[in-house]
Amino acid sequence: MSKGRKLIQEHHGMPPAPEGATALLIVSPSYTHCGHCGGRAFPTQLSHQTLAGPGRSGRPGCGAVFTGITTRYADITNDDLRGVRDDLPIVRKEPPP
Ligand SMILES: [Zn+2]
Repeated sequence: MSKGRKLIQEHHGMPPAPEGATALLIVSPSYTHCGHCGGRAFPTQLSHQTLAGPGRSGRPGCGAVFTGITTRYADITNDDLRGVRDDLPIVRKEPPP
């Protein structure tokens, strides 16, 4: 492995989001992720402070503030979303025709 590649791995957090950036918290059956940077997120955090998931857990997230919660899965109900975070408004896109 080259020295350059090792450096990238050691700094493999997410690039910081611009000041004031917001994101949706996206819920999947087994994890949640950040709508701004796409990295996995801890659903209990108010902003994307920390990456979750294997290998990168604990490294910095992008810092975007979660302002809503959503899912792409039709079988995840609004009750399920409220069970993850009841303080965030639910944002659901209409299913494709
Ligand atoms: Zn993020």
